[in-house]
Amino acid sequence: MSARVKVRRRRRTKIIATLGPASSTVEVLTRLFLGGADVFRLNFSHGTHEDHAARIVLIRELERQFDRPIGILADVQGPKLRVGRFQGGRVQLQTGQQFQLDLNATPGNVRRVNLPHPEIIEAASIGATLLLDDGKLRLRVLHKRAGALETEVTVGGSLSDRKGVNVPDVVLPIPALTVKDREDLAFALDHGVDFIGLSFVQRPEDVAEAKDIAAGRAWIMTKVEKPQALDNLEAIIALSDAVMVARGDLGVELPPEEVPLAQKRIVRAARQAGKPVVVATQMLESMITAPAPTRAEASDVATAVFEGADAVMLSAETAAGQFPYEAVNMMDRIVARVELDPGWRAMIEASRPAPERSVADAIAAAARQVASTVGAAAICTFTDSGSTALRAARERPDAPVLSLTQSEATARRLAVVWGVHAIVSPDTRSMSETVARATKLAQQEGFAPPGSEVVVIAGVPFGQPGTTNALRVARVK
Ligand code: PGA
Ligand code: MN
Repeated sequence: MSARVKVRRRRRTKIIATLGPASSTVEVLTRLFLGGADVFRLNFSHGTHEDHAARIVLIRELERQFDRPIGILADVQGPKLRVGRFQGGRVQLQTGQQFQLDLNATPGNVRRVNLPHPEIIEAASIGATLLLDDGKLRLRVLHKRAGALETEVTVGGSLSDRKGVNVPDVVLPIPALTVKDREDLAFALDHGVDFIGLSFVQRPEDVAEAKDIAAGRAWIMTKVEKPQALDNLEAIIALSDAVMVARGDLGVELPPEEVPLAQKRIVRAARQAGKPVVVATQMLESMITAPAPTRAEASDVATAVFEGADAVMLSAETAAGQFPYEAVNMMDRIVARVELDPGWRAMIEASRPAPERSVADAIAAAARQVASTVGAAAICTFTDSGSTALRAARERPDAPVLSLTQSEATARRLAVVWGVHAIVSPDTRSMSETVARATKLAQQEGFAPPGSEVVVIAGVPFGQPGTTNALRVARVK
């Protein structure tokens, strides 16, 4: 593949593709990237460190080859709560019968099974619901004894060894990071990933702990997948660098009719805070085994784009499916088509959060307005931490946001942000140098033809972070 292919996305909403056995060769990765993947996700629930390390090397090679920053999301598994084993490997539980969960490690039967999590037994209250096997079976706690829960089966079914347990009603005294997660996190940070996907967040403290460990080396992307996190949503988002609507686990713990509303609420809250938000899981699920999606799936991707999410994500579709390239390509087509629709623009305008009372937001809002009034080809920001670019993107402007940064790490992180095209470029020292650099790069990168105008926002005096306070309109020569 020629390195001279200029990769320029015309869509604003970004695409994340999960890597796995179906997508780990350089050929498939290249096709996924050219087909539309802006960020690659490594799922630490599967694969070895060697597998992930090899993928990271390939992604960084791709980045050099096409001279575009690519984001890497390392998604750590979080605690998985499971029942123990059964004498025959499986039992059939009848609705209405009683069933005991206990700390006794001997194989279970139709009356009881091991639940090797004393914290759950401790924290579960009378009347609490326990979900088994992704919510297929439901239990209600009747009594508690030392080391055991006596429950009533409210929805029966077949239950087999090591099936998952969810406890939606109870804040569990379990940290979001297990021993394995801490090892995975250290590995991912050492290998220079850009985002850490944090599972099982229940409390703001869970995010704070991961942020302490990352210490600025990667953005923490909080996966909102537990109802407990919804009770603390604003505080959790405030501490997070980015947010994922993790509909897989969210859909186990919440009834299906609640999931779309939770998604809308999370996207709205993240946009309000100016934090990137990703809609994830089952977006094109049927494409794991089919070359085309269902109508409902196409509609689901479109809904996330209408809501103004920063990115949409593919999981097993690209990690383990038969049609990884077709899935990315289909997502790209759906997003691009929605973004051509005047109704989409109108919805983005209508859902824009008001600027916060800061100079930086006033400038970001002004840039969006000026760019729209003069029909500017781009809004150019200079950003170190990425924060100026995030505030510009929060406005969801009509013009693309060209984000110039001297930091390669920042450019990679901005790969997940709505409407941002990041370029690594050395710092400037004066307004005239800044304007000259912005107009030249806007033209070179193919965004602004000669004679068009760009809006440049910057911080004066130069070299001081957090000072975005100036706006210039400049013509491209
Ligand atoms: P997972 O996260 O696939 O790692 O569980 C995504 C989700 O829960 O939706
Ligand atoms: Mn999950």
